[in-house]
Amino acid sequence: MDLRLNEEQEMVRNSIREFAENEIAPLAREYDEEEKFPHKQLEGLAEMGLLGMIIPEEYGGAGFDSVSYSLALEEIAHADASVAVIVGVTNSVCCYPILGFGTEKQKQEFLVPLAKGEKLGAFCLSEPHAGSDATNLKTTARADGEDFVINGTKSWVTNGGESEIHIVMAVTGENAGKKEVTAFIVEDDREGLSVSSVEHKLGQRASKTTELSFVDVRVPKENMLGGLGEGMKVAFNSLDNGRIGIGSLAVGIARAAYEEALAYSKDRVAFGKPISEHQAIKFKLADMATEIEAARLLTLKAAAAKDAGGKKTGVQASMAKLYASEMANRVCAEAIQIHGGNGYSRHYNVEKYYRDARITTIYEGTSEIQKIVISRGVLKD
Ligand SMILES: Cc1cc2nc3c(=O)[nH]c(=O)nc-3n(C[C@H](O)[C@H](O)[C@H](O)COP(=O)(O)OP(=O)(O)OC[C@H]3O[C@@H](n4cnc5c(N)ncnc54)[C@H](O)[C@@H]3O)c2cc1C
Repeated sequence: MDLRLNEEQEMVRNSIREFAENEIAPLAREYDEEEKFPHKQLEGLAEMGLLGMIIPEEYGGAGFDSVSYSLALEEIAHADASVAVIVGVTNSVCCYPILGFGTEKQKQEFLVPLAKGEKLGAFCLSEPHAGSDATNLKTTARADGEDFVINGTKSWVTNGGESEIHIVMAVTGENAGKKEVTAFIVEDDREGLSVSSVEHKLGQRASKTTELSFVDVRVPKENMLGGLGEGMKVAFNSLDNGRIGIGSLAVGIARAAYEEALAYSKDRVAFGKPISEHQAIKFKLADMATEIEAARLLTLKAAAAKDAGGKKTGVQASMAKLYASEMANRVCAEAIQIHGGNGYSRHYNVEKYYRDARITTIYEGTSEIQKIVISRGVLKD
């Protein structure tokens, strides 16, 4: 088993690390405090092809494999998790489903501008009463002549209000007593689509999260993504990919918190010696480093399995997301502990990492939902 990165993967990681350290990290604190959307940082990432990293070059993307995608998201999140989630959502739950399920016309019209970074994407599955239980959607799409007419409310839309292209899951009918869900591509300028509220969040505050309201939004039938009734297939297929991305993002946040805690522990003196020389602190650092390494390996393994076209990538993606997100919460909490009182202050970055890490066990499927997916997989073996 070869755990080394290839030359291209190394190059991707190094170039993105350099960009993220120089162009993203210095702005992270200001953008977080002011809840400012990072247009400037995204422009730079778009020039590097990172808004369509996993999309083939023929559709305007960078043509990365999933391992490179994972490495890239870790580096971006190490600098600012807000920027990473915007990039992750556009790539994995907007571009990717269009690549997998779109017609050639949809790819040319919607995927190419997304992958080139000319447009931003969003994924609209969750609703006020349907998060984990995504089968309980109330948003409807009624066929009317050559169109579908969409009505409903979508909550927690990452990139909402900034995105031009939305993947929207809506109920189109009933099949054997179950709701038939279909996916649609909805552009931001469709009449009846509006931002009904903007969320003010604990962390990842430079990323925008909104509720979107759909009132008689008319889209042509040619905007249907995949077949009639294939909406949940489109959604779950995208989420498998998204979960590798969130696992990588969590590793990036944890690594940033760990590095700052390590440096601080060498500087801070208590009882006549740097706190890094007290065994209790040494052991914390050892646990943090070990857990980060384990999470990265799990995440890269899921990405490599996806690149190899393996079967159980869904379970592997869930394991990576579950472990990496829980690990990031533990590591960020310890980073604050190592900083003592200073860790609780906005003068130090660890409080931001702690806030940014918190959501990773919730979005793209909570930890409890990942355990349901994993246990289903292991019980089938
Ligand atoms: C910042 C942010 C960004 C987001 N971005 C997007 C986005 O871009 N697009 C999108 O569609 N959604 C998005 N979401 C929504 C997110 O995916 C949901 O919040 C998440 O899936 C959980 O759903 P919920 O909030 O309705 O919680 P609920 O489903 O109400 O869950 C509440 C609690 O119950 C637990 N629970 C539920 N069912 C079970 C069960 N069967 N067994 C055990 N425990 C269970 C959950 O794990 C959780 O702990 C985002 C959310 C946030 C906060």
